[in-house]
Amino acid sequence: MARALIIGCGAVATVAIKKCCTCSEVFSEICIASRHRENCEKLAQELRPNTKTVITTAAVDADKAENVSALIKEYKPDLVMNIALPYQDLAIMDACLECGVNYMDTANYEPENIDDPEWRKVYDKRCKEQGFSAYFDYSWQWAYKEKFEKAGLTALLGSGFDPGVSQAYCAYALKHQFDTIEEIDILDCNGGDHGYKFATNFNPEINLREVSAPGSYWDTDENGKGHWVEIPAMSIKRVYNFDQVGQKDMYLLHHEEIESLAQNIPGVKRIRFFMTFGQSYLDHMRCLEDVGMLSTQPIKFQGQDIVPIQFLKALLPDPASLGPRTVGKTNIGCIFKGKKDGKDKTYYLYNVCDHQECYKELGSQAIAYTTGVPAMCGAMMVLTGKWNKPGVHTVEEFDPDPFMEALTKYGLPWQENFNPVLVD
Ligand code: NDP
Repeated sequence: MARALIIGCGAVATVAIKKCCTCSEVFSEICIASRHRENCEKLAQELRPNTKTVITTAAVDADKAENVSALIKEYKPDLVMNIALPYQDLAIMDACLECGVNYMDTANYEPENIDDPEWRKVYDKRCKEQGFSAYFDYSWQWAYKEKFEKAGLTALLGSGFDPGVSQAYCAYALKHQFDTIEEIDILDCNGGDHGYKFATNFNPEINLREVSAPGSYWDTDENGKGHWVEIPAMSIKRVYNFDQVGQKDMYLLHHEEIESLAQNIPGVKRIRFFMTFGQSYLDHMRCLEDVGMLSTQPIKFQGQDIVPIQFLKALLPDPASLGPRTVGKTNIGCIFKGKKDGKDKTYYLYNVCDHQECYKELGSQAIAYTTGVPAMCGAMMVLTGKWNKPGVHTVEEFDPDPFMEALTKYGLPWQENFNPVLVD
């Protein structure tokens, strides 16, 4: 019996909220809040007749910590589930600390305004010191570690699929299959087809920023020192034959969980992340980038300030609307290379999810489903005390077993391959 404040009511949050409502014994009360309360209320009205979970709604602009604090003080939740955007992470963490409430999210902090000189100073220093130039990294949220520890509060970061389940798979492999893991390849394949020439499967601004950025991976030199290797965007391509999806082109991207896994998986030498993209997506993205449509810098247009990528977002299909038209499957998982009982071992742990099955069950496509279910399961781990560790932690720092059990129960069972084809 617990009370959760859920901030965000978009594609991912909708799945998480619907799943919370199937588990009223844990989520006995939820409050759904975002800037547009009417969207939250619409979803609440759809769900109320069929759930024992008591659902209320609120309007909140979570860009400001004081707004979130005021709502927390009024609603008194046991956990704040941040399923809004990465821009709000720090404000919501500040509010949780002020009010003494546990926190979770699905993506690590990145600023909305990457031209902010204060942020830029820290960013430039990090690029030089660390060697990767993505706009997001864990340092901002890891800086809260001591504060959460002292307050006796748990902050669970990145409880989606990747980040999220990908890290639970690493913890599971280390716990049950390996003595040491040397190499991890995280493969994210979306074999779905929505019929549009160009659309993004989750928030376009966040998605396009991630995909158009330089790629990078974690590697180790001959002296055993780990370091980042950065490459131009989309410059490492591999072809992989995915179970139940088939052969797809995939490209090496920077991804946030590489950063935490490099710290938390002892002895790991290389970690890479690959995502599949079709040629049409890449051609459109390159063209949009070339003409400046992915820029986050405001421009004056007919007397008004317009942020090109936000204007583009308004033109693109709403990711939440892709459900009915998307067919095919996703296959997301990790291939491990390491040692067990002194012998070399390889192992592949993955989930296959069908877009149309997700749509039939919850009215969402598989990308929102595969993110929303782990968000709900992560919240459940914190609320039931299974993942109670004061401080700021990523998923691989917790016991994977109860989480993986919950994933199976709520729609994301895993599959294993003890002789996988490796990525060269
Ligand atoms: P959407 O754009 O569909 O939804 C975002 C939601 O956040 C909306 O309901 C919006 O409502 C709300 N929101 C935005 N700004 C604010 C604000 N200032 N205050 C309060 N609410 C706000 O995004 P998605 O559902 O696609 O993505 C949600 C999160 O999931 C993102 O952080 C994304 O990066 C992450 N994600 C993680 C993945 C993973 O595997 N880990 C995969 C895919 C996504 P309103 O406009 O009413 O405020």
